[in-house]
Amino acid sequence: MQKAGRVLITGAGGFIGGHLVTDLVRAGHSDIRAVDCRPLSEWYQVFPQVENIRADLRELNACRAATRDVRYVFNLAADMGGMGFIETHKAECMLSVLINTHMLMASREASVERFFYSSSACVYAAEKQTSTDVVPLRERDAYPAMPEDGYGWEKLFSERMCRHFREDYGLQTRIARYHNVYGPHGTYDGGREKAPAAICRKVIAAKLSGSDEIEIWGDGNQTRSFMYIDDCMTGTRMIFDSEETEPLNLGSDRLVTINELVDIVEAIGAVRLKRIYNLSAPTGVRGRNSDNTLIAERLGWAPGISLEIGLEQTYRWIYDQMTAGARRTP
Ligand code: NAD
Repeated sequence: MQKAGRVLITGAGGFIGGHLVTDLVRAGHSDIRAVDCRPLSEWYQVFPQVENIRADLRELNACRAATRDVRYVFNLAADMGGMGFIETHKAECMLSVLINTHMLMASREASVERFFYSSSACVYAAEKQTSTDVVPLRERDAYPAMPEDGYGWEKLFSERMCRHFREDYGLQTRIARYHNVYGPHGTYDGGREKAPAAICRKVIAAKLSGSDEIEIWGDGNQTRSFMYIDDCMTGTRMIFDSEETEPLNLGSDRLVTINELVDIVEAIGAVRLKRIYNLSAPTGVRGRNSDNTLIAERLGWAPGISLEIGLEQTYRWIYDQMTAGARRTP
């Protein structure tokens, strides 16, 4: 990726998109267009030197305007959230198919040189994720397909659409399958938050209110891996620059239970809380981990920032937001 030429980042008002704008500004890209449907006042990170646009990218004409004179596209916009959101908003999640479809059509018309799509570990077949003691998921495990209902089907379909735009029309598409990304400047309340941010918020809230209890969704034995945002940025840039046209896992391969995640956050907050398990809350698949063989082989790299370091940064940021009274609800 060269410095010359305009870069478009969609979903730039959100968590990962905001970090990507920051990353590219720091790397010296001077022609960046950032687009999101949220009002600018609700974007997590805003840079005055960037062209910031509010637009609904489900509309083809909005995608046409966004891709005008653009050389590189990072398409991160999606209507999504943590398990609490995607299990109860399946149709809304699937409507994001309009964003990727119209972004691909507009990018082709605008002769975009390279197009990045942020897919998800939710594309993996549910039957391979029924136990806590999981076999890490390899890229080929996405087929035969039976992904997460709603959100996962949309992601898998959009991956295929990227592939066929590359094969049929020569649009250079690159795809990362993100596994649970966390870090500062993201959603931590309001219903779309994911486990690491939610647990930080609950531990902080307990501390601030003097409560000695924390509610955990499920029995706490469900397993996941979590990737810190800085690793996500490094991997996204590497996949974008690579000649790897098939989807690559981008996630940590350190498997932890939700209870272990809580242990780490409690240690950061220097507190021990009584755990109340809500067995009727949405929890998603029973266990999931990333197999990083392919990314290590193809790119000579894999995410490595420890949960302890990443969660410390996340906890500090959420603490500052909560104590400053600046609630973030999209
Ligand atoms: P986010 O919700 O913080 O950011 C997504 C942004 O897209 C939001 O700011 C939202 O306003 C915007 N958006 C939604 N609909 C839009 C529309 N019609 N037009 C324009 N903008 C629109 O989420 P995130 O965590 O930053 O995720 C970014 C991308 O990465 C998404 O595609 C998501 O599916 C994918 N992903 C994220 C994770 C994760 O753990 N965070 C995991 C897997 C995949």
